[in-house]
Amino acid sequence: MKELIQLIQNSNYLVALTGAGMSTESGLPDFRSQGGLWCGKNPYEIASPQAIGTDDFFEFYQMRIEDLLKYKPNIGHYVLAELEKEGILKAVLTQNIDGFHQRAGSQRVIEIHGHLRYLVCSRCGKEYPATSYRENTYYCTDENCKAPLRPPIVLFGEPLDSNAWNSAVQEVEQADTVLVMGTSLQVYPFAGLVELAHETGSKIIIINKTSTPLDHLADHIIHESIGKVLSEMAESILGTDRFTHLKEHNQG
Ligand SMILES: [Zn+2]
Repeated sequence: MKELIQLIQNSNYLVALTGAGMSTESGLPDFRSQGGLWCGKNPYEIASPQAIGTDDFFEFYQMRIEDLLKYKPNIGHYVLAELEKEGILKAVLTQNIDGFHQRAGSQRVIEIHGHLRYLVCSRCGKEYPATSYRENTYYCTDENCKAPLRPPIVLFGEPLDSNAWNSAVQEVEQADTVLVMGTSLQVYPFAGLVELAHETGSKIIIINKTSTPLDHLADHIIHESIGKVLSEMAESILGTDRFTHLKEHNQG
């Protein structure tokens, strides 16, 4: 742990990569990577472009949007926001669509798989509030369009947003230290960012409950809760007073 803290403190350009494990510590269910079923259905089929406009699609995303109100960022999210304020962390690149990093105060967040802050028309792209499904607005209200609304996220089988992806690549290229958390690194091209970090000579730290196929590229691997590791790190880097203040901020 001491070595890890030194590595973070001595970094010139620290970038964090986060996946579902970051938010499951808030209690948020993870349907994408656990292979779990939703109402007996395969989430991979619902979270696909073919499913847009079906009742399953609307219900699934309505539930996911409502989950975001039920759950909140955890201590790990707050520690990352604080490390950014401190000038240590430069950016968060996330696979998560929950917006918890921003809610915890992170400024530079690249959402590689999009977000659920609002809905868009699947044809004309017009924006609608995230509450639209709940208010029984499922289709574009433009008389000439009437296409189903969808969240601006990357569904299975869809390409990534090239702007978000290019920004993520640039951040990793600039980084000298990469902190990877809560991702099993099985989904590409996201996992490729860790390979890129390795190619450009970055120090790589992986914090994940289980091992990943890219563990051999890491300088440090910790199979622990992210909140626990980041808490220890924050207490040492930010000092006990500021860390205690952070904990008051959030008990999750
Ligand atoms: Zn439309």
